[in-house]
Amino acid sequence: MPALDNATYLDRYAQSLIGVYGRPKTVLTRGQGCYVWDADGNRYLDLLAGIAVNALGHGHPAVVDALCRQGASLIHVSNFFATPPQIELAERLISVAGAPAGSAVFFANSGTEAIEAAIKLSRRTARTGLVAAEAAFHGRTTGALALTHKQAYREPFEPLIPSVTHVPLNDEAALRAAVNADVAAVFLEPLQGEAGVITAEPAYLQLARELTAASGTLLIIDEVQTGVGRTGTWFAFQQAGIVPDAITVAKGLGAGVPIGALVTFGPGVSGLLTAGQHGTTFGGNPLAASVGLAVLDTIESENLLAHVTCVGNHLRDSVVALDHPLIRGVRGAGLLRAIELSADVSAVVTDRALAAGFIVNAPTPDAIRLAPPLVVTKAQIDSFVKALPALLEALEPTS
Ligand SMILES: *Cc1c(COP(=O)(O)O)cnc(C)c1O
Repeated sequence: MPALDNATYLDRYAQSLIGVYGRPKTVLTRGQGCYVWDADGNRYLDLLAGIAVNALGHGHPAVVDALCRQGASLIHVSNFFATPPQIELAERLISVAGAPAGSAVFFANSGTEAIEAAIKLSRRTARTGLVAAEAAFHGRTTGALALTHKQAYREPFEPLIPSVTHVPLNDEAALRAAVNADVAAVFLEPLQGEAGVITAEPAYLQLARELTAASGTLLIIDEVQTGVGRTGTWFAFQQAGIVPDAITVAKGLGAGVPIGALVTFGPGVSGLLTAGQHGTTFGGNPLAASVGLAVLDTIESENLLAHVTCVGNHLRDSVVALDHPLIRGVRGAGLLRAIELSADVSAVVTDRALAAGFIVNAPTPDAIRLAPPLVVTKAQIDSFVKALPALLEALEPTS
């Protein structure tokens, strides 16, 4: 088959795929480490990692080895049967989450499915009220969508599940007013990735823990984007010193292979869902679980938590040191960061970055999100920071 170029592929894409993503920026054909190549042969430094997914970059030997070994052995068995990788990954997740004895895992295939499982878990409290934060993103399936705040995502699909209250993030009075004995669960992201990497303050998460404990409400922390080392600890909630009732995990766990998980903390919460009350065909299959194990092993053996903290701080410090009039600051933690701009120019900057060989993302008009592979080097970060002033050239601060 002749090698095709980006434009030809994109025309075929437009003819054959439902248009929910708009026109893709380019067509990627291979990757290695923190770099990817498109069909025209252009190379890009991947500072987005498939939206915080490719935790070990592209083609990492530990991932390839797990895929090949498990793929040659057993890929799928159905949940009538168990497999060693599924059991081992559940045990490892409970361990790295620091969850107490009696904790348990439900495996799904995506972040939104992990949230769906958490919503069903909450229904088993015999309450129906749910509380989430304004600007929250918890997924796109119809249950998770009720927790996602963005009107443009919700409105075409209403009515969604009722009894969801959205409160402004970090507003303690609003949270106090919303949490009561009718509320089954409070859902919070420790950092709101899709909203532009907005931090839930540790004191706010601590208050959420106090209020939910007092009213018998579940506190469910959505670690789909922040989990598995992304912010420099295994999970971001650990930096706030709280113990949630459950966490949802997905994106980075499979390093690109679809997997999601709900981890329930302690025997009480873990016993809420019983035989027959939930399920999925693919969830917990040995292929995805083997890769999940390889990811956790590699984060440990390559000492990546310390690396993420170190390179993440270096990224923040070097961007701030540019002292550029269009840069207000750098938000986030570890390797989940947003460069806050003083004008609504993130779309232009992202396009210029791509043309210059860098993949970054514009979650909001005034923020550039970086979520590179956890293995990204300081030198690779430096190459982007060095290019950044040229990407901002001739753009005007708004005020
Ligand atoms: C991406 C994301 C989801 C949804 O995950 P999908 O795998 O896209 O369904 C849910 N919550 C958070 C915080 C996310 O970042």
